[in-house]
Amino acid sequence: MSRSIGVVTPAVRRKLALLGGAPAFAEPVYITRPRLPERAVFDGLIDTIFQTRWLTNDGTLVRRLEERLQLRLGTGFCRTFCNGSIALLTALRSLDLRGEVITTPFTFPATVHAIEWAGLTPVFCDVDAATYNLDAACAAELISERSAALLPVHVFGNPCDVAAIDALAQAHGLRVVYDAAHAFGVVHRGRPIGCWGDLSIFSFHATKPFHSAEGGAVVGSDARLFADLGALRNSGIRSEDLVLGVGLNGKLSELHAAMGLAVLDLLDDEIRKRAALAGRYRAQLAGLPGVIFQQVPAQTVPNHAFFTVEIDADRFGCSRDALHLALRAENIVARKYFHPLCSDNEAYRRLPSAQPQRLPNAQRLAARILCLPLYGDLPEDHVDRIADCVLSVHDAAAAVGAAMDACPP
Ligand SMILES: *Cc1c(COP(=O)(O)O)cnc(C)c1O
Repeated sequence: MSRSIGVVTPAVRRKLALLGGAPAFAEPVYITRPRLPERAVFDGLIDTIFQTRWLTNDGTLVRRLEERLQLRLGTGFCRTFCNGSIALLTALRSLDLRGEVITTPFTFPATVHAIEWAGLTPVFCDVDAATYNLDAACAAELISERSAALLPVHVFGNPCDVAAIDALAQAHGLRVVYDAAHAFGVVHRGRPIGCWGDLSIFSFHATKPFHSAEGGAVVGSDARLFADLGALRNSGIRSEDLVLGVGLNGKLSELHAAMGLAVLDLLDDEIRKRAALAGRYRAQLAGLPGVIFQQVPAQTVPNHAFFTVEIDADRFGCSRDALHLALRAENIVARKYFHPLCSDNEAYRRLPSAQPQRLPNAQRLAARILCLPLYGDLPEDHVDRIADCVLSVHDAAAAVGAAMDACPP
């Protein structure tokens, strides 16, 4: 296919590594790299720990972090946890639920595992084809007398249809816990993302835009839940003489809080850098046949936790899997988030709601989605070269598809 002379795009692209060319990168470019604070800032916080000899159990750094997170997240309260999974499990326990929880299969496995660990039954609901989030109309059809709660995920940081979900929950007397693990710092309809539903949870894992190496939080506004969450994360201990409820140890340590405090100062800069890089990807990939971007709802300030492309094989020329393989040969570590679907896990496949034909949008998405490397310190020229590799794969799609077919599975 000849291109017009004089455009920025070269007429002949680089020879792909999968087809015998030299890889675009000598070292692997990973999907993400954690943002690290200045060593001196971190050391200053660690000095506090050595001075106080206070390592965990409501120390000064955890309390300072919780205060700052509550301000940043604009919620009534913020309880930190040792990770997002335990935050979610404890959030579900604090609501004292029985029965079924309606959720999305297009998420990180921890979302669904938390439901099962809390002694509840997951019910999988299909997603919206454009926003990738739980489809409220599908959820309505899954509600029964066994339903206890909705657990939607703001997937890739993209806000759910919060108005429809909250209306549905109210109409049926259901609780709502949002998995906002990807959505730290996102603002939607003029409000921080943690303001909807009964509770929201965040993950501060090293792979998330805001992190404390490992960590997480539950946010909400109900004072009773605030007290219960505090006791539940501390083995159910309410006072020296009162232990109540099935608690666990879900506490964040002072060491992790130190990392969290130091990284929090860098978050706005991190999001700003990601926004510029995501814009750069978009500018170079927009209009490429068969490349689709996630639809972001109106009135959203995103955090650019991920940069995703959805590959329509018929129009792009080869499949997502072929593109993934070709990028890997270039030393570009793109990831197929979230494939396989949680509903295809052998632990959940037996559920009636897990049947693939009941989840057509999620199934199609899991076969087509690809996340490209994105983090604040990713050099601009890396974005350009990664985008160029995607364009080159499109140009050589037939040969890439054939090479893919020749590869043993
Ligand atoms: C990361 C993540 C979690 C779990 O968080 P951890 O801190 O890794 O336990 C939960 N849900 C989603 C959607 C996530 O991406």
